[in-house]
Amino acid sequence: MTTTDTSVRPDSTTREHFDVLIVGAGISGVGGAYHLSKQRPGTNFVVLEGLDSFGGTWWMHRYPGIRSDSDLYTFGYRFKPWVGPPIATADEILQYMGEVIEENDLDQHIRYNHRITSAQWSSEDNLWTIEATRTDTDEPQYFTANFLWMCQGYYRHSQGYTPEWPGMDQYEGEIVHPQTWPEDLDYKGKKVICIGSGATTATLVPAIAADCEHVTVLQRSPTYFIPGRNENDLAETLRELDISEEWIHEIVRRKILLDQEIFTQRAFDNPDEVKSELLAGVRAYLGPDYDMETHFTPHYRPWRQRIAFVPDGDIFQGVKSGKADVVTDEIERFTPKGILTKSGEELEADIIITATGFNMNVLGDIDFVIDGKPLDFANTVTYRGMMFTGIPNMLWIFGYFRASWTLRADLLADFVCRLLEHMEERGAKRVEVALRPEDQDMELLPWIDSENFNPSYLMRALELLPKRGDKREWQHTQDYWREKDELPAIELDGPEFVYE
Ligand SMILES: Cc1cc2nc3c(=O)[nH]c(=O)nc-3n(C[C@H](O)[C@H](O)[C@H](O)COP(=O)(O)OP(=O)(O)OC[C@H]3O[C@@H](n4cnc5c(N)ncnc54)[C@H](O)[C@@H]3O)c2cc1C
Repeated sequence: MTTTDTSVRPDSTTREHFDVLIVGAGISGVGGAYHLSKQRPGTNFVVLEGLDSFGGTWWMHRYPGIRSDSDLYTFGYRFKPWVGPPIATADEILQYMGEVIEENDLDQHIRYNHRITSAQWSSEDNLWTIEATRTDTDEPQYFTANFLWMCQGYYRHSQGYTPEWPGMDQYEGEIVHPQTWPEDLDYKGKKVICIGSGATTATLVPAIAADCEHVTVLQRSPTYFIPGRNENDLAETLRELDISEEWIHEIVRRKILLDQEIFTQRAFDNPDEVKSELLAGVRAYLGPDYDMETHFTPHYRPWRQRIAFVPDGDIFQGVKSGKADVVTDEIERFTPKGILTKSGEELEADIIITATGFNMNVLGDIDFVIDGKPLDFANTVTYRGMMFTGIPNMLWIFGYFRASWTLRADLLADFVCRLLEHMEERGAKRVEVALRPEDQDMELLPWIDSENFNPSYLMRALELLPKRGDKREWQHTQDYWREKDELPAIELDGPEFVYE
C-alpha cells in the first residue's frame, strides 16, 4: 500500500517524494512494482512511464505478426502462470501484463505520459531529483526519490536502427522500419524486400507474405532458428491430468530451463553437433535441394545470439511455397526501383522493410548528473550488470538475452527488495558499489565479451556502456543458471557495498 496520496498532485514547481522511483512500465517495471508491493508492502513508490500505456516493447511494436521469440513460461513472470501457447503475440503478452496490474492493484502506482529527462543525485541530501515532461501537456514535473530502479529497457523505442546506404534518397518506393510501422501501410499485392535475418524478419515475413505479390528476404549473413510446434507437450499432459495452472507453470518452467541449460552447455562443448541439429531442423522444411549452405548456415557458433523459435517453421514454409525467397548478399546501393546487390543483381520492390535492429538506449536517454557532474556511464564499472561504481542508490534491470529477459528481471527484483530491506536495517540512506582493494589493478574491459555474445546493436554501443572486470562480481555474465543461485546468496555486507 502506498503512503502517498496520489489524488493530490503537486504543481510543477513542487517535488513529490517517493522512496523508490521505477522508470518504465514494460515487463521489468511492472514486475518491479509487483515485487515491491509484495515483498516490501508499505513502500512509497511510483512507476513513471513515457508512453500512454504499459507494455514497453509489446506496446510499441505494431508490425504484422509481432510475437515473442522465446516461450512465455519463462518470459512470463515466475508468479503468474502462463496458460496460452508458448510463443505469444504482443496482444497476448499485453493482456497478461494487464491482468498482473489489475489483480495486484498496481495501477495506482503507475503514471503514464511521464517522460523522464534528467536525474540528479545529491550526496548532501542522499536523494535523486527527477525531472519528467508530461507528454500529453508538455508540462515539467519534478520528483525526488531515495532509490532509482531503472526498467527502461535497452533500446530506443522512438526510432529503430537503419544503416545509411548509398542511393536511399533516390529510391521511389517506401522504406519502413518495423519499430515504426505505419498503421496504414498497404502491402497487398506489392513487391517487398525485407532487409535482415533476425527474429523480426522471421516473424514479419510469414505474416505478410500471403498478401504480398512477393517478399524477398535480403540478408548479409544467415542466422540460427529452431522451428517447432507452438505447443508444450509437458504442459498439455499436465493439463490433461488436471494439475493446477500454478503447478504447471512452475514444472514447465523448470523443464524448459533444464533443457536450455543442457542445450547451452552442448553449444559450448560441442558446437558442431548442435549446429548440424539446428540446420537439420530447418532443412526438414526446405527439402534436400535447397541451398542451405548459402542461406541458412550461420558463420558463428550457435548461442552467441539468441536463437529464435519459429512456430511451425512458418518462414521456411513461405520460402518453400515460393511466396518468399532469400537472397544472401550485401547491398551495393539503393536504386530508384529497389536494391542493387554487391554481386550485381537488382532486386525490385515497392516497399523496403529495414529489419536491421535497434539503437541501444543507455539509461533511457536520461541526463544523469552526480553531485553536479554529468555522468559518463562508460567511465563506470558494472557490478554484475546491475549496479555501477560512482552511481549511488540505482539499479538497472538488464535481462537475459539467451534465456528469457524476465527471468533476470524477477531475480533482480528480489535483489532490490533485499537491498532496500538491508539498508533499512542498517539505517543507511545510501549504497554504492566500489572496487575492493584487490580489484584496483583489475583490467577493465568492454561491457560484454564479444567472443561469448555479440549481437550488432550491442557491439555498436559498447563504447557507451560501463566497463567490466575479470572477476564475476564485475561482469554481466548472461548466465541464468549460475545467477539463479549466486544473486540470492550475495553477501550485502561484502566489501564491494559501501553504505552511508
Ligand atoms: C520485437 C521484440 C521481440 C522480443 N522478444 C523477446 C522474447 O521473446 N524474449 C525475450 O526474453 N526478450 C524479447 N525481447 C527483448 C525485450 O525487449 C525484453 O525481453 C523485454 O520486453 C524488455 O522489457 P523491459 O520492461 O525491460 O523494457 P521495455 O519493454 O523496453 O520497456 C521499457 C519502458 O520504459 C519506458 N522508458 C524508457 N525510457 C524512459 C524515460 N526516459 N522516461 C519514462 N519512461 C521511459 C519505455 O517507454 C518503455 O515502456 C524482444 C524485443 C523485441 C523488440
